[in-house]
Amino acid sequence: MSIFNMTIHELHSALKGKQISSLEATSAMLERIEAVEPHIGSFITVTSEQALAAAKSADQLIARGECDLLTGIPLAIKDIFLTEGIRTTCGSRILHNFIPPYSATSWEKLRDRGAVLLGKLNQDEFAMGSSNESSAYGVTRNPWDTTCIPGGSSGGSAAAVAARQATATLGTDTGGSIRQPASHCGCVGLKPTYGRVSRYGVIAYASSLDQVGPLTRDVTDCAVMLGALAGHDPKDSTSVDTPVPNYSAALPQGVKGLRIGLPKEYFIDGLDPDVQKAMNAAIETYRRLGAEFVDISLPHTDYAVATYYLIATAEASSNLARYDGVRFGHRAEADGLLEMYTRSRSEGFGSEVKRRIMLGTYALSSGYYDAYYVKAQKVRTLIMNDFISAFANVDVMLTPVAPTPAFKIGEKINDPLQMYLSDIFTIPVNLAGTCAMSIPAGFSASGLPIGLQLIGKPFGEETILRAGFAFEQATEWHTRKATI
Ligand code: GLN
Repeated sequence: MSIFNMTIHELHSALKGKQISSLEATSAMLERIEAVEPHIGSFITVTSEQALAAAKSADQLIARGECDLLTGIPLAIKDIFLTEGIRTTCGSRILHNFIPPYSATSWEKLRDRGAVLLGKLNQDEFAMGSSNESSAYGVTRNPWDTTCIPGGSSGGSAAAVAARQATATLGTDTGGSIRQPASHCGCVGLKPTYGRVSRYGVIAYASSLDQVGPLTRDVTDCAVMLGALAGHDPKDSTSVDTPVPNYSAALPQGVKGLRIGLPKEYFIDGLDPDVQKAMNAAIETYRRLGAEFVDISLPHTDYAVATYYLIATAEASSNLARYDGVRFGHRAEADGLLEMYTRSRSEGFGSEVKRRIMLGTYALSSGYYDAYYVKAQKVRTLIMNDFISAFANVDVMLTPVAPTPAFKIGEKINDPLQMYLSDIFTIPVNLAGTCAMSIPAGFSASGLPIGLQLIGKPFGEETILRAGFAFEQATEWHTRKATI
């Protein structure tokens, strides 16, 4: 098998058994990146030299018999994660020259276990978008059909896995940004519970929603990555100090007797028929495996997108105030301080980011704060309560990830509302703060991947991973590869 097609667990066995060295694996990956990049555009920065050096160090560890599951595995991460000494742009022109003085905890955890960094992946600017089209570094293309978007905002992270440019990747999910691109690119993507993974050193978009998570080729790899990432970090006060279970050990437990909820608000008339078909087939598969289905309701679902776009933009307007041309990033030439601020921000931010800052500033302004921001917070509580009540009767929920498969590049970019609506099934999970995963569950008539969303209780990652694994064992969607 080609090295670039391998999963983490397959490559790990080959490294441990000394059939391949990390240097060989990393070089093969770098060649693959070079060959595929002109068609896909997943990367903003490729760190070839550092990757080869890290691979050599990993080989020394392996020679000494120290071969952790991630030792020598070539990974790539979204350009939202700070990486010491390596340019970090967050997809924005305003950070085109920003070299961070320290690294994100999540990346350090992988690196400390011997993982090799291949580079930094393309994304929507400041993670605002669902198509990767708001990046200042060009659009990433979907490896299954290069006229389509890969999803967003972690579009580069999903495309790199699907185009086999990295063994696995890291993304972030504020309103669906791991799950939606994973669904559109046919990979596994998991958004952990709020507080499960440290966000120290992750450029903030909407701090009450942002979470870090893995994108992988299969559920086994997802469990390995989550195990490496999860845990309390004293540097992130929102990370929770609760034990990290052995996710890999939970996988083979099966779904017999598992109660799966089907929220009626997620199976709407406007659902694409191919997506509906894939969901029906998945429900049949789970039935065959012994799971029980329960009809449930999440009655405030209709308000989720509006609530999200008040809370996320309010938090973004505050988080993005720090890009003022003074301490880091782009600084415009100007006569006075005020003009320097204005010009730096006008030149540095793209139009979607400006739209969000204006919306958020408006929602927080005096006179409108109670009518918009406070009201959105109250509705958020109702949405959370929907999940709490529904989870009293079920162990997991099964829903589509997105209402349609990947759309065409350019199709929604001039209609922000249409773009925002593509996240209707992922956004409520972030508002509720719980965990969810996208797994491959079929293909559209035109050959585009379709993902299935499994939503778990807070800190119920083991259950969604085990349900995902059972589905994967019973189907072969995850084994299909884009012909790129
Ligand atoms: N598409 C949503 C947004 O634009 C979600 C993005 C995300 O999860 N980072 O805000």
